[in-house]
Amino acid sequence: MEADQLPSWRDESLSTVKRAALWLVAEVGEGSVFTKAQLRDAFPDIAQIDRRMRDLRDYGWQIDTRREDPHLEAHEQRFTQAGDPVWAPGTAKRQRTGSVSAVQRREVFLRDDYICRSCGIAAGARYSDDSYESAQLDIARRIVVKPGGEESVELVAECNRCRVGGRALVADLGKLLAGIDSLGALERRVFVGWIKADKRELALIERLWGEYRSLPAESRDAVRETLRSDS
Ligand SMILES: [Zn+2]
Repeated sequence: MEADQLPSWRDESLSTVKRAALWLVAEVGEGSVFTKAQLRDAFPDIAQIDRRMRDLRDYGWQIDTRREDPHLEAHEQRFTQAGDPVWAPGTAKRQRTGSVSAVQRREVFLRDDYICRSCGIAAGARYSDDSYESAQLDIARRIVVKPGGEESVELVAECNRCRVGGRALVADLGKLLAGIDSLGALERRVFVGWIKADKRELALIERLWGEYRSLPAESRDAVRETLRSDS
């Protein structure tokens, strides 16, 4: 991009988003770091210049903060890559990177087997406590804490009810893996079976327990008698 052929970022007839983009190109340069103070000095009269700068991301501009690049200080950002020339007429916003495309939605639903991953209800099924409302699946963003402690946001199918109730849900993958690690060999095998079936089937031991509990007293005694040597 030839900076000297571009409109001036000082031209106050241009919109703030355009001026911010031009300032990045002319004064900062791709790949360079700038500070909040520098940005504010360049645009002293513009409230929320930080936010206008972030709007550039909708046009494919990559501006990293400490969140994307831990090497940056809290007051620094990096103009990593220029996006669409917002100063040119007719430059349309790109789809926000944060929004979920129709293709992504279909992929998530398919992968999650068209059930709500929070309560297990299937798309279109009626909630058991209310025969008139049926479940509609939507995409939720789940914060997942990885075993290393870093957080990521992953997409999951969730029904309308759970979405309302579970916005702050954070999945702790490290804790779950540690819990699985603490299982005994038998429990672990059962757990693997549930994962394969993607549902919790009654384990043999639970079926046997149910059958034992429903036995008449005499027969329960007979079972106890058989197991006497184990206790
Ligand atoms: Zn649900």
